[in-house]
Amino acid sequence: MNLPCVIATWSFGAPACRAALEILEEGGSSLDAVERAANVTEDDPDVTSVGYGGMPNADGIVELDAAIMDGRRHTAGAVAALTGIRRPISIARLVMERTRHCMLAGGNARRFALAQGGEDTDLHTDRTRAAYAAYRERTDQPAVVHFDDENHDTIGICALDADGHLAAACTTSGLAWKLPGRVGDSPIVGSGLYVDDEIGAASATGNGDEIMKVCLSYRVVMGMERGMTPTEACRDGIAYLLRKRPDHQAQGAACIALRKDGAWGAAATQIGFDEMSRRWQHAYGARSVVTLSEGPYVARG
Ligand code: ASP
Repeated sequence: MNLPCVIATWSFGAPACRAALEILEEGGSSLDAVERAANVTEDDPDVTSVGYGGMPNADGIVELDAAIMDGRRHTAGAVAALTGIRRPISIARLVMERTRHCMLAGGNARRFALAQGGEDTDLHTDRTRAAYAAYRERTDQPAVVHFDDENHDTIGICALDADGHLAAACTTSGLAWKLPGRVGDSPIVGSGLYVDDEIGAASATGNGDEIMKVCLSYRVVMGMERGMTPTEACRDGIAYLLRKRPDHQAQGAACIALRKDGAWGAAATQIGFDEMSRRWQHAYGARSVVTLSEGPYVARG
């Protein structure tokens, strides 16, 4: 068994996995590992779709979605449309650990974050300010969202610790130029992430408005419960999405899965999402080594 281990979405998942492995290999919990991994991406201004330096919504405001799930206790916490707070996954964890609720949204999520000591931060960078100005110049239709290689990609992370417990985290600034108040799949348990400590964990990235319509991460974990390998379960989840939402193909989705025994897998609708130069990749880490893989891809049937 490959214990402990970690898997994350996209090539920027590699440094996140390294941070998670440091914790896991010292005997730390999968919960601490996925939070730390998410923080690495949230703090990185070069990742323009997560946390600090994430692209803003149509009003020019960065609204963050994040969720964390702890398999050991089968519990979760989430924040949606959170503004001006640096590490949304850590606020999601506080929702899980310090309230009786699962999700806080908007201005009151921010109020909770500040009351809990969350870091009030201007999340814009020069790059995102310039991108927003260019966007405003080329469109007077803020509701129209087109995917391109800067305007989306979520970090989803699933980890298995040395004690055999699973956790997952999912954090994003969502689609650039989204309508204010739009919440994607990422903070929704069962859509952007899901963990069943007796089975496995999964997380998703891509067009969240579609992913949430098929509860993609829940389906992937249930696929593993039915005996599928992690790769088969991811392929099945993506195929289900394409079957139910046939027009979805152009905008893309991908998922990762980690089974309780350390087996792992992934699948995506296509090599890169529409108009996107970045290829779909996921990162896997075990025994102090992190590797990047691509595919497999599920064509629309
Ligand atoms: N799933 C994210 C959202 O819809 C975006 C992405 O992962 O590309 O907000």
